[in-house]
Amino acid sequence: MKVLVVSGGVISGLGKGITTSSLGRLLKARGVPVTILKIDPYLNVDAGTMNPYQHGEVFVLDDGTEADLDLGTYERFLGQSLVGTHNLTTGKIYRAVIEKERRGDYLGNTVQIIPHVTGEIKRTIREVAQAAGAEVILVEVGGTVGDIESMPFLEALRELSYELGEGHMAFVHTTLVPVVGPVGEAKTKPTQHSVRELRAIGIRPNLIIARGPAPLTPDIKAKISLFCDVPPEAVISVPDQPIIYEVPLVLEAQGVGAQLTRLLGLPDRPPDFAAWKEFLTTYRRCEGSVEVAIVGKYTELRDAYLSHSEAFHHCQGHLGVEVRLQWYDSEDIPRNPSLLARLERSDALLVPGGFGPRGVEGKIRSIETARSRGIPYLGVCYGFQMQAVEFARNVLGLPHANSTEVDPEGPDPVVCLLEEQKGLNDLGGTMRLGAQRVILTPGSKVASVYGKNEVWERHRHRFEINPQYLERFREAGLLVTGTSVDGRVEVLEEPNHPFFVGVQFHPEFLSRPEAPHPLYMALVRAAIARKEVATPVAPAPALA
Ligand code: GLN
Repeated sequence: MKVLVVSGGVISGLGKGITTSSLGRLLKARGVPVTILKIDPYLNVDAGTMNPYQHGEVFVLDDGTEADLDLGTYERFLGQSLVGTHNLTTGKIYRAVIEKERRGDYLGNTVQIIPHVTGEIKRTIREVAQAAGAEVILVEVGGTVGDIESMPFLEALRELSYELGEGHMAFVHTTLVPVVGPVGEAKTKPTQHSVRELRAIGIRPNLIIARGPAPLTPDIKAKISLFCDVPPEAVISVPDQPIIYEVPLVLEAQGVGAQLTRLLGLPDRPPDFAAWKEFLTTYRRCEGSVEVAIVGKYTELRDAYLSHSEAFHHCQGHLGVEVRLQWYDSEDIPRNPSLLARLERSDALLVPGGFGPRGVEGKIRSIETARSRGIPYLGVCYGFQMQAVEFARNVLGLPHANSTEVDPEGPDPVVCLLEEQKGLNDLGGTMRLGAQRVILTPGSKVASVYGKNEVWERHRHRFEINPQYLERFREAGLLVTGTSVDGRVEVLEEPNHPFFVGVQFHPEFLSRPEAPHPLYMALVRAAIARKEVATPVAPAPALA
């Protein structure tokens, strides 16, 4: 087993997840089987119970784990699906240690951070690498070096490098090189301090990745090399990029791929970046643009909808048309009618997932606009449930139709609690979660979009469409074109609309740069078609 550790210094939010994924990609491009594990040093067992404003979107894996959003970045960069064991938290480690203590596994011993907690961490890392069949496991340590929370993890990794021996483990430290003052001077002191912090706990970084607004000059690289005790070629500059998928190539251009293989004692084969580069070339060489409106309630923090934004980037890299996202806070819409007029000028609308009553009326109004004006629409999870509510209110004439999540006592519960959810008390990990089979109606729009009649998609919900209303939906033109194996409604579409599709699942979690999701591609294609009709190409002048 070879291990590549990525730590972070100075501040959080440096894009460590992107760096780790990119390093993984460099190895994968050389044919090395890799996997990634994320350490989140918080006490939550998983991210499922956290508000998106705290850590951004909750990313759902095939096995139903509600994970940190970095897992999504790993999946997209590696083009591989991961499972829940790849997101390790302090909560999980402590839970395992305490369970063992109660069982009597440590009988007679005082249970301590060292060696029991660190031992559990090392055991888990080894187990994950083995189960994944990877030659190299990348381990990203969340937080910033020096935090109390991450100490046991760094200590465990230090111990592991000693146990594995020379040439089996390498440490990459990501830091910030800020540019300050009137002349824009790059400052290395924060990097020096954070490397010192790392060395004080016995870890010597092999590579330093310096983030910042501008590329490092050779003298700044030399200074970091001297003060931090790494060779000059091991100081890597990663300035902000217009799109995150550039990062692997930025690293490759500075010889990082070859350095990693050397540090880990792997053969250095020439890397294959053909498909990756093709995606980036199309992405950069856009002709024209479309605007997609997104109406949600966490729009102040873009990370709350990260997988959606990425899915649209993936479409741009395949269709060669710039996809501009226009964000709307759903709570603003009922208060400010001009927003709906603005939204009408968008080429498509997406309403993403969500929870609770706040902001639902704005979502419903936006969906009504999309339906009545022929604007291509994709509803995801809550956006799909609200699509049913909107249809019931405005087409079936049931003005009080709602989800019981919003109005538990209303006369028309078009969306209601899943049977198995009734009587559940725990909120953590108890929704209908993870990959489930969806059967599509042959000949429907969704079936033609996917090009098949059966798909697996990831889920995260407690409520579902109430089957009692389906007959009336069908008569009024909103069809069920996808169901689960046990008959739950998974897809609704209106065949007489250019594109009006809602899905109970989360397609955004499966979109990847090299394989954009068919539903997002279909939405963007419909947006392009709408824009072409709205702004027809000027007719050629008549011949004299
Ligand atoms: N709140 C809805 C439910 O629980 C939708 C969930 C979601 O959008 N992820 O069913």
